[in-house]
Amino acid sequence: MVVILKDQAEQKKVKNLTDWLENQGLSVHKVKGQYQTILGLIGDTSKVDIDLIQGLDIVENVKRISEPYKNANRKFHPDDTVIDINGYKIGGGNFQYFAGPCSVESREQILSIARDVKKAGANILRGGAFKPRTSPYAFQGMRAEGLELLLEAKKETGMPIVTEIMDASHLPLFENVDIIQVGARNMQNFELLKQLGRIDKPIFLKRGLSATLQEFLMSAEYIMAEGNQKVILCERGIRTFETATRNTLDLSAVPMLKEMSHLPVVVDPSHACGIARMVKPMAFAAAACGADGLMIEVHNDPAHALCDGPQALTPERFSEVTAGVEKILAAVREAK
Ligand code: PEP
Ligand code: MN
Repeated sequence: MVVILKDQAEQKKVKNLTDWLENQGLSVHKVKGQYQTILGLIGDTSKVDIDLIQGLDIVENVKRISEPYKNANRKFHPDDTVIDINGYKIGGGNFQYFAGPCSVESREQILSIARDVKKAGANILRGGAFKPRTSPYAFQGMRAEGLELLLEAKKETGMPIVTEIMDASHLPLFENVDIIQVGARNMQNFELLKQLGRIDKPIFLKRGLSATLQEFLMSAEYIMAEGNQKVILCERGIRTFETATRNTLDLSAVPMLKEMSHLPVVVDPSHACGIARMVKPMAFAAAACGADGLMIEVHNDPAHALCDGPQALTPERFSEVTAGVEKILAAVREAK
């Protein structure tokens, strides 16, 4: 981090600032130029309050040279993180399919979809029990009962499950859930992230609707700074001026995130596009650009789904996606 001081900054105040920074364990290198003095800070500046320094009357400008995320940063962890989910690995060249309905609607529905997606090649079953809906009048999910049904589907099929948490007070209900999802709307629910950082379970973190990649990684950092290093990032489309699709799938986020971070990156083309017929081409593109997995919504009766029917694939169409993606992954491996 570099602090550029104002011309003729009062020496006593500069000394106070230097002492304060050194007390935080940083070494401060003062460079006196013809017109300006610069303080170069060396050490872990991730906890330094940049706004506080910027607000001082002797400071002209403050710039970070290194990224404020340490745990999630590829620089400090050059190897890919590989997360083991009950024997199924993700990251470091291991690809996984997370598939299932937007929400759990009934015992028959979740069991039948679980069996079908497993047959089609998915290893991890998704399904929302607590649903973050834009309208309070829309179906809010089966809540605790939905979690029970997911656990039943897990028991029957042997598939690990991923499901969304909306409030940390629900954590006891998630004890037997294999992966906890944090939805796009909660990506910056920092208290929730901190609590999830204190448990030993993989966290599936979805990118916020208008989050930059740095903000996304800072949210991962909230979890990791508390101790939990098992974070899976998910690009699920961002809000842009385009209205033809539900969101805009930011596929350049995949190679960029993999450069910035060592964490696995999954792509969710279902929420990104909002249109079932677009899921296959975008899933193919995601596999081609280096994603570590796909999250895809699958429903046995999309026309009557209680949530997100227009973007849901039938199990048959989902199996076409997995078959195609496998070919693309093989081609990408060969082309590398
Ligand atoms: C979901 O996966 O069910 C979901 C609500 O996704 P998102 O948070 O990305 O909107
Ligand atoms: Mn959905």
